[in-house]
Amino acid sequence: MESKMILYFDMDGVLVDFESGVRRLPEEAVREYDGRLDEVPGIFALMDPMPGAIEAVEELSKHYDAYILSTAPWNNPSAWADKVRFVQKYFPKVFRKRLILSHRKDLLRGDFLIDDRPKHGAKAFRGEWIQMGSERFPDWKAVLKYLIPVPERKFLKEKWVVNEFCGTPELNHYYETGELPKDETMRKLYEQMIEKGEI
Ligand SMILES: [Mg+2]
Repeated sequence: MESKMILYFDMDGVLVDFESGVRRLPEEAVREYDGRLDEVPGIFALMDPMPGAIEAVEELSKHYDAYILSTAPWNNPSAWADKVRFVQKYFPKVFRKRLILSHRKDLLRGDFLIDDRPKHGAKAFRGEWIQMGSERFPDWKAVLKYLIPVPERKFLKEKWVVNEFCGTPELNHYYETGELPKDETMRKLYEQMIEKGEI
């Protein structure tokens, strides 16, 4: 069986447009919950997906073992239920029974985590944290370019996996930027491949 790398998606600011829910709130609620809008009962049921998120998930789930790894506010129990409903509504197949809610994202085993904030263990995640909205990953287009191997580099994946290089995204990065791997052994292998015309 083919084993895919594990990829986690955060919800708010990644799959979910939090602001779209805020815009639909009555003014009184916005005033009352100022500074803690994520605690407004039912707010998570009002949110839309982020632009491009549905398409990105569809594409990425072909290449990765995909899960949602999100945090629901402790003081807003309805948010926990609304998050399941959101997934059932917008990602009924891809994320069916693949929703993980945790305040300790660093405890989960996996290769990549797409998250807009360092909070709740995202920064300490032991795979690679892809910070959505950062300079390097401003939008889904940048994330997809990084995470999806282009066909002509596909053969490299098989080849490099045995060399513990493990991961085309990293190789793609070197390929595209012209930078060289910092690790000496990896650099030598990479240079040899260039020499042999394999890249
Ligand atoms: Mg977030």
